Amino acid sequence: MTLMPNLQPTEVLQQRDAAHHLHPFTDTQELNAKGSRIIVRADGCYLWDSDGNKFLDGMAGLWCVNVGYGRKEIAEAAYKQMQQLPYYNTFFQTSHPPAIDLAERLAELAPDGMNHVFYAGSGSDANDTVVRMVRHYWAAMGKPDKKVIISRKNAYHGSTMAGASLGGMQAMHEQGGLPIPDITHIDQPYWYGEGGDMGPAEFGLQRARALEAEIERLGADRVAAFIGEPVQGAGGVVIPPETYWPEIQRICRKHDILIVADEVICGFGRTGKWFGSETFGIEPDLMPIAKGLSSGYLPIGGVIVSDRVAEGFIASGGEFNHGYTYSGHPAACAAALANLSILQEEGIVDQVANETAPYLAEAWKQLGDHPLVGEARISGLFGALELTPDKANRAAFDAPVGTVGLIGRENAFGNGLVMRHVRDSMIISPPLVITKAEIDELIDKAALTLDQTYKAAQEKGLA
Ligand SMILES: *Cc1c(COP(=O)(O)O)cnc(C)c1O
Repeated sequence: MTLMPNLQPTEVLQQRDAAHHLHPFTDTQELNAKGSRIIVRADGCYLWDSDGNKFLDGMAGLWCVNVGYGRKEIAEAAYKQMQQLPYYNTFFQTSHPPAIDLAERLAELAPDGMNHVFYAGSGSDANDTVVRMVRHYWAAMGKPDKKVIISRKNAYHGSTMAGASLGGMQAMHEQGGLPIPDITHIDQPYWYGEGGDMGPAEFGLQRARALEAEIERLGADRVAAFIGEPVQGAGGVVIPPETYWPEIQRICRKHDILIVADEVICGFGRTGKWFGSETFGIEPDLMPIAKGLSSGYLPIGGVIVSDRVAEGFIASGGEFNHGYTYSGHPAACAAALANLSILQEEGIVDQVANETAPYLAEAWKQLGDHPLVGEARISGLFGALELTPDKANRAAFDAPVGTVGLIGRENAFGNGLVMRHVRDSMIISPPLVITKAEIDELIDKAALTLDQTYKAAQEKGLA
């Protein structure tokens, strides 16, 4: 297939990229020395680079292209909306049909009792809104001191100052003097890495009870909310033991602490239900959303808010002094609506739950038998393979963290499969429209990647 007419040679694009484009989460010196990979086209679950190489996208872009690439309905919805009304704000007592339609649709799809939506431009913005909104709520309830938000180490909630503060990534906190005040972090429910000799169920309870200890340390009258991703994504697809979320739920209700389920990745079908909260039995008060909301076709995020919280601060009167120029952007709302219609009309979430997720899970568990794999875990179409030199003991490699994971990622690319590595684990989050035949291809390429990576690790004396 011819790629694109007038496409400049890869080296030229790489040079121009290096000269002017600063990439996110990138060592620019290292990248510029080797040149970026230039992606020029995509269709369904596949990507093509500027040299004509084809890749199966095992990451759905960055956990977001859930309906796959090339859906003309979404492009057309945005195009039509841009011709009708490309932009108008929702600040000054105005609204527009796409913002109204999408808010109503989200209220229908969300768990019972969550009927209100505040729009943002991304997941990070959505989490900034969370910080402002929970503090505003408690102030409106006459409890202005109830403002601490408890999060978790190794959580990811975005890259703005508030998002990165809620997140528990040490390297992010170090750049920028974070976290901002009144955000604290407890240990994560990462059994493979931190469970030691404990069984998963007992470990899940222990890590949930760390929340109660933190609430007691701070005083419940100072704690506004607990925030967590149902499954930690960027932290390495950390699927908590089944005991974890019910205990978190119990503790939050007992102490009257709001629950924020960050659904930016888990939302819209990733775990086999519309929201990760449903998969894990969480009854949240707020759900930040983004990524799968528009399948990444246009940037949009938001916070779905419970009746209790929304009606609470509405009834108290006064302005919520917060909002974004692009809150409820008409074209982004139109794209999101078209995306949700595809998910609904094609029954994609049910297809994940009943067909593709069980099919993938069986093959994924078999990869767990590979000598390099210490654990193969999966929830819906969201999985990780922990690499280890010693399966029995879940041991780490005798090398800087991420050394073997990076080898794995490079091998996967070489095999025409996009997988990401987090530390020394390999993770996948493919489009929700992936077929069984494409899953077979993904598994074959992942197995080959493991063989190559095992061999490379042995040659370096690491396995
Ligand atoms: C990606 C992500 C965010 C941040 O979303 P952006 O759109 O990148 O700002 C927040 N929370 C979670 C769980 C995410 O995975």
